[in-house]
Amino acid sequence: MATVEAPVRPRTALHQGPFVNEPFFDFRKEENARKMRAALTKVRSQLGREYDLIIGGKRVKTTDKIKSLNPARPSEIVGLHQKANKEHVKPAMQAALAAFASWSRTSVEERASLLFRAGDLLRQRKMEYMAWLVFEVSKNWAEADADISETIDFCEFYAREALRFAKVETPVQMPGERDSLMYIPLGVGAVIPPWNFPCAIMAGMTLASIVSGNTVILKPSSDSPTIAAKFIELLEEVGLPEGVVNFCPGAGASFGDAVVAHPKTRYIAFTGSREVGLHINQVAATQAPGQLWIKRTILEMGGKDAMIVDADGDIDAAVEGTAQAAFGFQGQKCSACSRVIVDERVYDKFLEQLKARVEQITVGDPAENSNMGAVINEGSMKTILAYIEQGKKDGRLITGGERATEAGEGYFIKPTVIADIPPKSKLEQEEIFGPVLAVIKARGFDHALEIANDTEFGLTGAVYTKSHDKIERAIREFHVGNLYINRKCTGAMVGAHPFGGFNMSGTDSKSGGPDYLYLFTQAKAVGEKIS
Ligand code: NAD
Repeated sequence: MATVEAPVRPRTALHQGPFVNEPFFDFRKEENARKMRAALTKVRSQLGREYDLIIGGKRVKTTDKIKSLNPARPSEIVGLHQKANKEHVKPAMQAALAAFASWSRTSVEERASLLFRAGDLLRQRKMEYMAWLVFEVSKNWAEADADISETIDFCEFYAREALRFAKVETPVQMPGERDSLMYIPLGVGAVIPPWNFPCAIMAGMTLASIVSGNTVILKPSSDSPTIAAKFIELLEEVGLPEGVVNFCPGAGASFGDAVVAHPKTRYIAFTGSREVGLHINQVAATQAPGQLWIKRTILEMGGKDAMIVDADGDIDAAVEGTAQAAFGFQGQKCSACSRVIVDERVYDKFLEQLKARVEQITVGDPAENSNMGAVINEGSMKTILAYIEQGKKDGRLITGGERATEAGEGYFIKPTVIADIPPKSKLEQEEIFGPVLAVIKARGFDHALEIANDTEFGLTGAVYTKSHDKIERAIREFHVGNLYINRKCTGAMVGAHPFGGFNMSGTDSKSGGPDYLYLFTQAKAVGEKIS
């Protein structure tokens, strides 16, 4: 890890001009497919390696370990990790506090330059990083591409944003004064990501933290520590100073909880389930002895996202959008469509087409680029299968409904569609986080909107309709942080669709948007008399 200050490199043409999202690969081109297969072969040869905690730049081993397994082949160890426990909180905090003293005073240009370089290096190694996601969380090639592309976007976008923030001016200058507004860092942040966008979300919350001048204790999910370790390696390679990010895989309930509760933790950037988010909110709200501030919490949580198909909507497009949004990455996206609410006039036609489309979805090893890989772990598989059994009782199974054992030893579940699910039932209300879609019949558009808004979540939603009036109504009344019209409810792009939800979906922090870095800073106003 670099001990000297990171050099500021001049911004290349790539980092100037308008921000452009990282393009996705077209795997129909044989050359791209060949390169991806080569990346998979290279990464496969590195599976099973051991990774250390990194605290203040020092490698630390622990007795307890975390085994990160390949969900498609659970006998295969992707990475062996140390397991931080409560006793590691103190050294991690000391290292982060020590680094904060210098890192918070580095120039914004220097910090942004680190992110630009990280993005450049990730572009060069994109397929290799994608391959890690294929093995560690069972993403297929396109899903892995979306995750790493978003990570590159975060490097580029937050670097530019930090530079923009540094130039903000107060709207008024008092006569005889120089009035300025500056966004200064907060302190040490706990960054606690989930496993489902294990690179993009983990990196996004970390990058937003450090480009704003904070230092971090990063606790990745125990299901995806390897990709986080690889990302930290990359940051080190581009000059991350010691202690700025302290890499500490560990259990949420012990290490994670203790970091959240620590009096010197200034803020918590969390993405994960509603239950854990609310718990963190509660712990963070309690003033610990010696704690000088109100801890800031940035909490992005679950969803029960709905797509509405109106009677005059484009059914073909709605079927395609639903299949992709419900079953992309096995339905394990906070933005996934888990409810499709269909007008009774087109209900049967929609269902018939949807069944045919979903039955084309292939389930198998994502290294071979099947449409769907395995769900994340055994516990999750069991929970999802229990929801499916409940759904068979509450509704009518259209397709799927069981494990896909023919796909292999992994945690494979068939894409499952259950129709006639009643509003307010378990499958209509609770986040399942797996390849299970509830289809709900609506009497008309009013009824559809009422059902769509009837859960405690409010993350994403979509409406398929040709009616201008209904579009206007959806914009006014469909209460979600990310609404899409005549397109699917997944696939938010950095810059275009700042992401975050309402109600129990979180604090609506809008990652990838122009307000995001405010959450990682505090504004200081200075009025200086000049004559
Ligand atoms: P999770 O809540 O189980 O875990 C998230 C993180 O919290 C993990 O790193 C975990 O170790 C840690 N954790 C657990 N208990 C903790 C505690 N007591 N104190 C501190 N940290 C603790 O979620 P998950 O299964 O990793 O991810 C899936 C969930 O994330 C879903 O609910 C999904 O909707 C949500 N999610 C939301 C968004 C969003 O932007 N709103 C994005 C992705 C995922």
